[in-house]
Amino acid sequence: MKTFFKDSRPWLIAGPCSAESEEQVLATARALKDVGVNVFRAGIWKPRTHPGCFEGIGEKGLPWLREVQEQTGMKVCTEVAGASHVKACLDAGIDMLWVGARTTSNPFLVQEIAESLSGTDVPVLVKNPVNADLGLWTGAIERFRAQDVRNLGIIHRGFSTFDKIRYRNVPHWRYAIEMRTRFPELPFFCDPSHMAGAVEYVAEISQRALDLGFDGLMIESHCCPRQALSDASQQLEPSALDGLLGSLKVRDQVAGNDETLESLRARIDAVDDEIIRLLAERMGISREIGSYKKERNIAIIQSARFEELLEAAKKLGATYGLDAGFLARIFNMIHDASAAEQNKIISEK
Ligand code: PEP
Ligand code: MN
Repeated sequence: MKTFFKDSRPWLIAGPCSAESEEQVLATARALKDVGVNVFRAGIWKPRTHPGCFEGIGEKGLPWLREVQEQTGMKVCTEVAGASHVKACLDAGIDMLWVGARTTSNPFLVQEIAESLSGTDVPVLVKNPVNADLGLWTGAIERFRAQDVRNLGIIHRGFSTFDKIRYRNVPHWRYAIEMRTRFPELPFFCDPSHMAGAVEYVAEISQRALDLGFDGLMIESHCCPRQALSDASQQLEPSALDGLLGSLKVRDQVAGNDETLESLRARIDAVDDEIIRLLAERMGISREIGSYKKERNIAIIQSARFEELLEAAKKLGATYGLDAGFLARIFNMIHDASAAEQNKIISEK
């Protein structure tokens, strides 16, 4: 896999969510070549959550990827979700494969893919499963290794959630950090596009991934994102990708497991992001309670409820070694802010 990428980090994989037409694939590939991308991605078979969406062009698109290899010299990669996809890709000379999040969630399919690759040295990147299950993610790596598929890498693309959050997927960076610790020898990529779900967040997620010491990025880019048949809102035009790459700061990382101050700070930043997300979620629920109280004429401050909540927080905090006074200060502030928000709702006409 190393030979596919430049010496310097981050290693970059870019290309459209889906191969849609020969023109779209080649126009995007040429533009990305100029941006300095050396591995081109495009989905041929698309696992869509809902039926009736564009489900990929299928095998017909494989020769277009060959064209990309020939015309631009870039390596090409696509997603496989079963043995028939693997066979078609190997026959077509695709350089690298990835296993999508929905497939990693299914051990039967992972096993089938691993067996169909047995004895080959085609690089395979394994995305995290849709749900935050490190066991499934790790198990997929183990299944490939058991079939002697050794040229492996990992992609973190975030985890599905029912909650309305800033991004399409929850990053849960600590899961990625744990995975990195389990497999320090494997190249570790972040897919900020699927994590973001919208172009405006791709840069900040890419930077966070680099700060956390990821080796590379897989970013969706399309020559005409507005016309894209899948994931239109998260695909960058090649020129925008160029600008984004120019804005990224690559910090010094110590190889292996050694943590630099920078990477420890990046971990703190990732936890802080999560705290803010949870505070916003809590405030949302609190507003719902505000409306409920308003409709039923219930008083906002219910001190018995707050005392109960505080005691529970202190008890739980103690099991994590957190100081009771510290928790009391934090929860008092949260409670005050919550009450102020509910007061606003009650006073609205
Ligand atoms: C993709 O890379 O286009 C894709 C389908 O991603 P994921 O498996 O992360 O949803
Ligand atoms: Mn996509």
